[in-house]
Amino acid sequence: MLTKAPRGTKDVLPSEVYKWRYVENLFREVCDHFGYKEIRTPIFEHTELFKRGVGETTDIVQKEMYSFEDNGKREITLKPEGTAPVVRAFIENKLYADTQPTKLFYITPCFRYERPQAGRLRAFHQLGVEAFGSNHPSIDAEVIGIAMVFYERLGIKNLELRINSIGCPHCRKKYNDILKDYLKEKLPNLCNTCKDRYERNPMRIIDCKVESCKNELTNIPLMLDYLCDECKEDFEILKESLSAMGLEYVIDPNIVRGLDYYRKTAFEIVSHNIGAQGTVCGGGRYDGLVEELGGPHTPGIGFGMGIERLLLTLENNEIPIPSPKGLDIFIVSIGERAEKEAIGILQNLRREGISADKDYLSRSIKAQFKYANKCNASYTIVLGDDELNQDMVSLKNMNTSEQTTIKLSNLLDELRNRL
Ligand code: ATP
Ligand code: MG
Repeated sequence: MLTKAPRGTKDVLPSEVYKWRYVENLFREVCDHFGYKEIRTPIFEHTELFKRGVGETTDIVQKEMYSFEDNGKREITLKPEGTAPVVRAFIENKLYADTQPTKLFYITPCFRYERPQAGRLRAFHQLGVEAFGSNHPSIDAEVIGIAMVFYERLGIKNLELRINSIGCPHCRKKYNDILKDYLKEKLPNLCNTCKDRYERNPMRIIDCKVESCKNELTNIPLMLDYLCDECKEDFEILKESLSAMGLEYVIDPNIVRGLDYYRKTAFEIVSHNIGAQGTVCGGGRYDGLVEELGGPHTPGIGFGMGIERLLLTLENNEIPIPSPKGLDIFIVSIGERAEKEAIGILQNLRREGISADKDYLSRSIKAQFKYANKCNASYTIVLGDDELNQDMVSLKNMNTSEQTTIKLSNLLDELRNRL
């Protein structure tokens, strides 16, 4: 028990962590280029925030949250997703009072009690963006553009961008009536979840993964065919904007977000070679959410992307991630005096931003060189009594095996010239 991590969690070991840093740094860089600023919110929030912000009828709230009562008898939940906390912070810190739009991104751990499998964990990580304050479809295109540029920069090809419009409260009301009419006689054959959705959230029935439901619903009316003029026009502008950005897309009328405050644009980005959990990114417009959580009416759009699934995509596409830089220099020392000197030299090199290391296990010279190789050191020097007495050491380039004799007191300058 003590030496086994909880089911659905994974350590990121030092041998893997460079991939995470690469992906996160690239995401930060891309967001920077789009004018999005990083926001960090706490790992836990009041449970009520997610009930309201993610929605009582969603799988997340109904069965997947890690919730508990804290010692002060507050209902607390570990973040299952990134949007609701960012919206809470947007309202609480009155970011709406700044010049709009407010363009934000986040990188965060998330927690969901799900059945663990490839690409599905209980503790996982998301990258995401949220743009508040504009209802113009060109910002929808921009948000999609961030995800696509990020994938491009990573070298991931053959992803499919799927877009849809799920209308606004105005056209969705009419559509829901048509949908319920259509579903009425099929209802006895649908699964219990769908029966429940029928009253609370009929559009989500389209999303049902149960085979018998799918078979019943082959000709189900689609929101896309019932959009009002404004929603239709916005969808056209979105499509034109994506084309102007050189982005290919397919229209997928089956992408739904059942909640009232999700409006218009909904999209997914799908990878075809990471197995069943192929959705690497999901997003959409949520014009009613800020208001739902107690803020002033503010349009918003964003996406969330799972880092584990992204790394899986990179792996399955055999896309290399630049391996981490090794040490600049390794100091091999012989004898007690040299060992002591090495400590001082190391501190000075490190102080100057040069990565440096030495042996700490009293290894033989041969073993120290072997260790230097393992540390991927670019250079080594051997430090012994003679070298210290003469203030001369030989600097060895570990890639070319070339050796030059330098003054020990010039080591820092010599390294600066070479690195
Ligand atoms: P799914 O279809 O996998 O259930 P979802 O609709 O629950 O996804 P979102 O809530 O939109 O997903 O989350 C955004 C992204 O986060 C997903 O596209 C996926 O990449 C990732 N993600 C979601 N749940 C998990 C999980 N349990 N483990 C790892 N990644 C996840
Ligand atoms: Mg899910």
